[in-house]
Amino acid sequence: MTPPITLAEAEVFERFHDAVFVRDMEGNIHFWNSASAALYGWPPHKALGANARTLLQCRHEKENYDSEDSKLLVDGYWEGELSRLTGAGSRRLVNARWSLRRDDAGNPIGVLETGYDISSAKATEQHLKASEYRYRNLFQAMAASFWELDFTAVGPKIRALLDAGVRDLEAHFLAHPEVVREFMRCTQVVDLNDHSVRLFGRGDRAEMLGTIDRYWPDESIQVYARCVVKSLAGLPNNIEVTRLRTLEEKEFECLFTACFSKENIARGVILIGIIDLSELVAARHALEVMQTELAHAARISILGELSASITHEINQPLTSISTYAQAALRWLRRPEPDLREVENALLQIVNEAQRTDDVISRIRSMALRRPTQESELAINEVVQDSLQFTSHELRRHSVRLTTDLAASLPLVRADRVLIQQVIVNLVMNAAQAMASAGSQRRELVIKSESLNAGEVRLEVWDSGPGIAQGLEGKLFESFFTTKATGMGMGLPICRSIVEAAGGIIHLANREDGKRGAKVMFTLPTLPTLPI
Ligand code: ADP
Repeated sequence: MTPPITLAEAEVFERFHDAVFVRDMEGNIHFWNSASAALYGWPPHKALGANARTLLQCRHEKENYDSEDSKLLVDGYWEGELSRLTGAGSRRLVNARWSLRRDDAGNPIGVLETGYDISSAKATEQHLKASEYRYRNLFQAMAASFWELDFTAVGPKIRALLDAGVRDLEAHFLAHPEVVREFMRCTQVVDLNDHSVRLFGRGDRAEMLGTIDRYWPDESIQVYARCVVKSLAGLPNNIEVTRLRTLEEKEFECLFTACFSKENIARGVILIGIIDLSELVAARHALEVMQTELAHAARISILGELSASITHEINQPLTSISTYAQAALRWLRRPEPDLREVENALLQIVNEAQRTDDVISRIRSMALRRPTQESELAINEVVQDSLQFTSHELRRHSVRLTTDLAASLPLVRADRVLIQQVIVNLVMNAAQAMASAGSQRRELVIKSESLNAGEVRLEVWDSGPGIAQGLEGKLFESFFTTKATGMGMGLPICRSIVEAAGGIIHLANREDGKRGAKVMFTLPTLPTLPI
């Protein structure tokens, strides 16, 4: 019988890097080179004479396994991927090529196989496929809009600007928005996920590809400009809240993220992610409206509590006006009218009328329903305004007031009426606490001071019963009250006002060993500008 391989061939195949072995038509191995020994882990003396099918326990990776022998017999050649067991018991994936050997009469006598290990290449490929699949899934399934943009056409334009001597690109873009627009027209959407089509489009994905220019309202184009500047500076991303526009020309607020990975930038590509914030913005707006309404309702309720004081404050000047008017009449009706006295009385009437006017406009500002209006405030002035509301109330409850207001405090930025509302609330709470506990000594201290950390602090101390044990944590809860007719909304509203202005508020028992409560709140001061 003709051997399936000659000695000369064997010598040549021994030098191959690929695993080469030869088997007869029954599968018995007649040649086994060193590379086969290395790949399959069987030394030649174990492999030679063994049956290849038993030794290697071959499994085919593809279907139609049975057909390859017949294919080999017809074509004389077969190529494919095979999974083989090694001597160490592990499986290797092999790319194998078979060629049929025939004797001089043309009868098949054996098969020559060359093969090489593709296990790690295959594993890497599968890993890549899996990760590609995962990211594609993520890209499609996320409830966020993702875009892939091609900005290759922008590169030469940036180089032209730099060549023309433009050094500060950010300033240049600010001064020339038309340049940014031109860059945007050259930036193309090359891919986007389904959510983007829902958010920006009209249902047709293809319609959305192309220039990004149409998605950017004028007010947002510097976001694009900053992306250019940051990516050139080698920064990893640009994240901003901005406004974008749908194909239906509807603008909406969104969180915009552009990601400048080195690999993508080198390919002329950037990835952007957009999260629609319009519902959040609408919810926040609705909340602000509700808080404003609530604060307004609470102010009206305080004015109700202050009605005795208000009546008194208005009655006083009215009584004076009436007295001065009668006096003026008397001076006029004299046989010899004393016009100097008449003038004097009329001047007093004007003064008292002005006082009434002041009281009424103060009340009006408290009673008015209006949106928040922030301005720069001297906190001591707001304390004085608030005391005008409450001074009669304090007198009525026999409360002795001491103010300890620090001179030349830095300004704060807040809504005057709202901060006034906080102070009036705290003063009223203190007065009511002292009165209802029947405290003999009723002392109220209002103190303002500047803190180093860019804050001013206001404190309201009283000599009332203080806070009962266990209640400290509840006082700022909505509707918590210990008063028979209380609403329990005063302190929660004070807190929302103070926190909205960037401060904190705290209520506790006095720490100086005396009975009573102490409320303090802070407000951030305005940054002082270098002169
Ligand atoms: P209300 O005045 O309608 O009760 P607040 O929210 O202003 O609502 O106050 C909640 C509770 O906090 C009061 O009912 C009272 O028990 C307590 N409180 C507030 N200020 C003081 C104070 N200065 N001294 C003692 N208790 C106080």
